[in-house]
This record gives sequence, C-alpha cells and structure tokens, in this order.
Amino acid sequence: VAIEVVAETGSTNADLLARAATLPGPLLRIALQQTAGRGRAGRPWLSASGATLMFSLAWPFKGPLQQLVGLPLAVGVALAETLAALSVPVQLKWPNDLIKDGSKLAGILVETQAGADGRIWAVSGVGLNLLMPDALEHAIGRSVAAVPWLAQMDRNALMAQLLSRLAAALAEFDDTGFAAFSARWNRLHAHQGQEVNILDAGQVVQRGVAAGVDDSGRLLLDTARGRVEILSGDVSLRPA
Ligand code: ATP
Repeated sequence: VAIEVVAETGSTNADLLARAATLPGPLLRIALQQTAGRGRAGRPWLSASGATLMFSLAWPFKGPLQQLVGLPLAVGVALAETLAALSVPVQLKWPNDLIKDGSKLAGILVETQAGADGRIWAVSGVGLNLLMPDALEHAIGRSVAAVPWLAQMDRNALMAQLLSRLAAALAEFDDTGFAAFSARWNRLHAHQGQEVNILDAGQVVQRGVAAGVDDSGRLLLDTARGRVEILSGDVSLRPA
C-alpha cells in the first residue's frame, strides 16, 4: 500500500475519489487536518488539527457493486479489533460508527468509483477522535467520545497497526464478501436486543428490536409485523 501524508486538505475521501480511476494500486492518504470533512448524505465531519486521526484508503475490488454493501461494516470490524488489541474496547453502531461509552468515537464513510480497468474502487474514509477539545465538541453539538490514551501513542505506530488490519480486512472482504465478518460484527453490536428507531430523512420509518446483521450486512429488526431487513442507504439508527 502506498502512503501519502498531507498537512491539510478538504477531504481525503474527495481527494482519492477524484484519482481512483487512475491509481496503479491501493493508496492510503492521511491528513493532519481537514477543512471540509464529510459524513454520509453531505453531513459534516468536524476535526481539529492534532486531535483527530483522519485517513482514507483507496482499494480495488472485483465487484459487483452490490457486493460492497457490507464494506463499511467490515471496515468497522477491522478498526474495532485494532482498538481492542490496544486495550480500547469499542462497539459498533449500524451501519458506520464506532461507539465508546455510548458516544460516537469514529465515523466511517465508504464511497465508490468505477476504475478504467473494470474494477470498482472503494475509498474507505475514517475519522477517529483521539482528543476532543471543548471547542470541537461544541461545534459538533452532541456528546462525542475520544481516546486520550491513544493520542499519547506514536502516531506512525498507531497508523501502522490500523493499516495492517484494515488492508487484511479489505483483501478478505474482496475474497469472501461480508459473510466472514457478520459474526465478528454481531459480537461488537452496540444496540443488540435494544429497541431502536430507523430514520430516513429525519422521519421514523421502522421501529423494532435490533437483532444484529445478516451475511450481507443488512440490519435485522424484529418489528410488530415480524422480522425486516434494513438495507444501508441513508438511514440512521437511534435508540428508541
Ligand atoms: P449518526 O451518527 O447521527 O447516527 P450518521 O452515522 O449517519 O449519523 P454520519 O453521516 O456518518 O452520521 O457522520 C456525520 C455526523 O457525525 C455529523 O452530523 C455529526 O453529528 C457527527 N460528527 C461530526 N464530527 C464528528 C466528530 N469529530 N466526532 C463524532 N461525531 C462527529
């Protein structure tokens, strides 16, 4: 995996998406600060220089595109397992968040781009809060988590551990799809057995008990009318 580091950019995901079609191989881009970081559906990802670990990894997949539905969840498993190995236990919130002590610690944004060679490039962006300055938490406007202990760790060593697990997960995902990750994801599920609402564009569209994910990464929800599978897309989960 080639690696590049920049002091500041708008969004590492946007940078790599623009180049994905012409990349010779996997590329990791790290930014010390982002000025236009983003989450899903155009929502902002806010950060402070030195406080937030931000990177994107561009990786080519055999496809087809619908095979990649579970990719953000597989990325979450790889990150959570890396943090667990560093004595930072975290949980996963469907489809794309890492949760620590009930608050969001990290967000994942996977975006795709067709390559010139027929492969599909997926850019997996990660923002992980190491420190959470008051001004940043105020700007985000909700309670968020950070891991000050990891902020003291050598950044290159931390990044190397994250990259090695992430690259292994992406290679495995390309071979076997999400099936190899579903049990691992379910062990880390933050809302297992809890009553949750599923929101789409701010409206509650489903309510039920979260029962984990299936082998393609869909959320299983036990509702009054039986079990339903929630596809990713722009839906958000909230504790009921
Ligand atoms: P939610 O986290 O509300 O369920 P989501 O997973 O769909 O929604 P994303 O679109 O992935 O959220 O991420 C964007 C949201 O993350 C923003 O709307 C903001 O609330 C939150 N956010 C922004 N910056 C940070 C940060 N540094 N740490 C934690 N959360 C952040």
